[in-house]
Amino acid sequence: MINVQKKDSSGQSAVFPDRTHLEGSISKKDTFPETNRIITVTDLDYYYGDFKILDNIKLNVNTNSIFGFLGPNGAGKTTTIKILLGLLSAPHNKVYLFGKELRKNRIEILSRTGSLVENPSIYHHLTASENLKILAVMLGIKRTKIDEVLEIVGLSNAGSKKAGSFSTGMKQRLGIAKALLPDPELIILDEPTTGLDPGGIIEIRELLLSLKNDHGKTIFLSSHLLSEIEKICTDVGIINKGKILFQGSMEELNKLNNTHLQVKTNSMEKTRIYFDKRKTGYITISQNTFDLPYRSDQATSGLVKDLVKNGIDIYSVEKKENTLEELFINIIER
Ligand code: ATP
Repeated sequence: MINVQKKDSSGQSAVFPDRTHLEGSISKKDTFPETNRIITVTDLDYYYGDFKILDNIKLNVNTNSIFGFLGPNGAGKTTTIKILLGLLSAPHNKVYLFGKELRKNRIEILSRTGSLVENPSIYHHLTASENLKILAVMLGIKRTKIDEVLEIVGLSNAGSKKAGSFSTGMKQRLGIAKALLPDPELIILDEPTTGLDPGGIIEIRELLLSLKNDHGKTIFLSSHLLSEIEKICTDVGIINKGKILFQGSMEELNKLNNTHLQVKTNSMEKTRIYFDKRKTGYITISQNTFDLPYRSDQATSGLVKDLVKNGIDIYSVEKKENTLEELFINIIER
């Protein structure tokens, strides 16, 4: 994908995939004809009183992707999500979901979208199944769907336990189960791992991956943690002070992020010969430890296998990356 560097009115740089050919036609239409696009936001501004909170936001989210919306606290993530979900009123012809203009097709769009924004609203004196039953009755959904959804989120065994005694991770999974009940194509989650312990974070991560890979869902999730986004997202949009600084695939972000691998082996000499032969650029950090550019998880796994195949033992492989602040500087200075 081609990225286009643009300077906005404040002189700040932003990196976008080149979709300028699409932008001119949007304002005249109620539909957005890209078949693989599940969310399109174009030139969206939003104000709270006199304060401009979102400034010319553009977003493109492809079907069956996990799109990470990354930004520090106060960047405008929740405001954007609330607009996507019709909780804040969007200007006309700026927000399209499923190719349809949000304001004109609100009910249809929201019936195809599940969400979890802030804490899940749960009846604490009821079980997971009872919580879902209430929603199923309200939405006219068959009861059989409840067991299916509980199975997906891994709460089938929660049995007669009341939701009030659930761990934070279980409550979060119940919140996701509620979002999944109407079988939405798109799931929008605002900071879904906040407040979870490392085990809970891994469970939610695995659940989201399975929703994409096994159930064909598209997931849009926000986070202020680069490390969280890069573990599961296929695509990423970075927002800072209401402006989109970057949008593209995870691979494109990794290139900007200047991520490195530090590989420690059992033999300085053998490893050096191995890298020299393959013309891999590396720096020797210390005895037996090499620093090289990170390409992808798959490439790392291939490298490890190949080193072993060549008689080199691996003591450790460490991914060294920038903080979100350093990444911002890289993007802005690009
Ligand atoms: P966080 O991770 O801290 O929730 P965020 O990226 O989700 O951050 P938003 O909640 O969208 O950011 O807030 C963006 C900006 O809008 C912040 O400066 C915030 O103070 C402001 N803001 C949010 N809600 C309101 C409101 N109801 N009235 C006025 N300003 C608001």
